[in-house]
Amino acid sequence: MKKIAAYLPVLIIFLVSISFAQSNKPEPVLPYSPSLDVSSMDKSVDPCVDFYHYSCGGWQKNNPIPPDQTSWGVYGKLYQDNLGFLRGILEQAAAAKNQQDKVTQEIGDFYAACMDETEVEKAGAGALKPELAAIAQLKSAHELAPLVARMQLDMGGVMFGSGSRQDPDNSEQQIAGLNQGGLGLPDRDYYTKDDAKSKETREKYLQHVQKIFELLGDKPEAAQQNAATVMRIETALAVASLTRVELRDPYKRKNKITLADLEQLVPSFDWPGYFHALKAPQFEIINVAPPSFFKELETRLKEEPIENLRSYLRFHLANGYAAYLSSPFVEENFDFYIKYLRGAKEMQPRWKRCVQYTDRDLGEALGQAYVRKVFSPELKASTLDMVRRIEDAMAQRIEQLDWMSPATKEQALAKLRGIRNKIGYPDKWRDYSSVKITRNDFLGNVERLTEFERHRNFNKIGQPVDHGEWGMTPPTVNAYYNGQMNDINFPAGVLQPPLYDAKMDDAPNYGNTGGTIGHELTHGFDDQGAKFDAKGNLRDWWTKEDKQKFEERTKCVADQYAQYVVVDDIHINSRLTLGEDVADLGGEILAYIAWKGATKDKDLKLEDGLTPDQRFFVGFAQWACANDRPEDMRLRAMTDLHSPDKYRINGVVVNMPQFAHAFSCKAGQPMVNPPDKVCKVW
Ligand SMILES: [Zn+2]
Repeated sequence: MKKIAAYLPVLIIFLVSISFAQSNKPEPVLPYSPSLDVSSMDKSVDPCVDFYHYSCGGWQKNNPIPPDQTSWGVYGKLYQDNLGFLRGILEQAAAAKNQQDKVTQEIGDFYAACMDETEVEKAGAGALKPELAAIAQLKSAHELAPLVARMQLDMGGVMFGSGSRQDPDNSEQQIAGLNQGGLGLPDRDYYTKDDAKSKETREKYLQHVQKIFELLGDKPEAAQQNAATVMRIETALAVASLTRVELRDPYKRKNKITLADLEQLVPSFDWPGYFHALKAPQFEIINVAPPSFFKELETRLKEEPIENLRSYLRFHLANGYAAYLSSPFVEENFDFYIKYLRGAKEMQPRWKRCVQYTDRDLGEALGQAYVRKVFSPELKASTLDMVRRIEDAMAQRIEQLDWMSPATKEQALAKLRGIRNKIGYPDKWRDYSSVKITRNDFLGNVERLTEFERHRNFNKIGQPVDHGEWGMTPPTVNAYYNGQMNDINFPAGVLQPPLYDAKMDDAPNYGNTGGTIGHELTHGFDDQGAKFDAKGNLRDWWTKEDKQKFEERTKCVADQYAQYVVVDDIHINSRLTLGEDVADLGGEILAYIAWKGATKDKDLKLEDGLTPDQRFFVGFAQWACANDRPEDMRLRAMTDLHSPDKYRINGVVVNMPQFAHAFSCKAGQPMVNPPDKVCKVW
């Protein structure tokens, strides 16, 4: 991924109800910013000393972090502009009476129900009553299965994760899968680390859990005791979970067993009852990873008195739903997850949350309206042309690599040729018409759409893989490579100014979006992607010597980024960010080669005092202009696969002689790695 997907804010606020039930809504407009903006630079900084600050100093000064944001960057700002634009589309849809068009009606009704605060407030936590009653009646761990299944269908993960996934050995086939989960803090390391800040975070989390119990009606003393129980169960599950670095290794995520094996691994859970309640198709083989987690789950189920398991479920039910309930729940959720953990000062206004919920739950309905307005066939053609040029550059680069043998090169080229390019939006849209969406039942809409998505996911078990499927919605400002699909995916939302700017020339566009395309392609060949072959199967296609040379080269990158400080005394965990750092470097080299090829017959001129090469690099840096909060940096140091923005720029250019040449940087300057430290993977 180019950027961490924006966390869906689990939160929020109650404003005065906004009236939108009027016709003649104005046509929404997406604000324009150019892909290279000289006023965003700080030319008083020497580009050879700190290129990021040189390119982004003006942007940082002109763009303080809004109080409702946890960080603020070019991607985040475009995403917020997108939310405003989508709001216009949704208000038009909600105001339209007697809709004939099913899709417009779906998104309009969903958004209207979400914006109806009076209804939401009136419903309070009442919607949880049936499930709370079912939890209260639990007599043994064996009875948990249908309830856990129900909760997972309505609200997503609780206790563990489950669904369909591609078979790691046969990427054309979908199989069933279970994985670790069940925690209320964002990472297992929060439960295990011993430093003062981690201890403080656990203390705050305990208070949050207690508060949720009190909101459910527990007396403070009981709530405190129940919170301690939840913390103890989660800590045991966390200790048995893989770290994020371990999770990057696809072999550690692979453990195909039979259903009979699963019943032996966790005999206290009623697996047949569970899969029956999920209405999952019949299957024999299931991927269960990691086994250590499920072993610990068995211990918890066997040893915890049933009232402890009831407390655990009760908390996760209310915590999982908090964002959709009445204001005390919403506020408590915001206070802990967004304000304390990530540093935002205010909740996002309700409309922003409602637009995001619509995008999440009806993304391919809202996406149709979005692409009609912002993604023309010309834009698709020009970005596809850029993709092809960057793929050609990659082929050329692989052929010329001086450290790789012809045998491995052949495999790498086959993998490159096998990559599918998905640009803008899916060819076939998801059909939500089987789901009941009403204008006065927001929580019910969310539940039914979550259930629809969960069933859609489970129903893939045993089916061939659908290569047309997308893992991001069209308005998303992000892109991804999927190793098992061997495809790159660029939603329409990431192909907008200032990232891809049809009004601008090639230099900043190749530096920026060209680099992103190269980044996603390189993911197919980073330390993780290189473990999958052209078909997306987990198979070693490397000669032993080439593998060793590849690992030496990625280690160069890991060593370089390990030097960088994120916040206070916390350094980058460069084994966590390695894939992204390798992709950043490879991507920009590919973009540069492709740009040179695309403009070889053009007469490129000096503009704004910058040479064409300088404009390529400033265009590159300006995708990453950002301001950050220390709280958020701390959380991301633990959970984000990407390095902080500054190092995603400076860490790349130090390894590119083309950069040093463009700005006449000398050996020994900070933006020039010494010759023996220059990293080059692809
Ligand atoms: Zn990435």
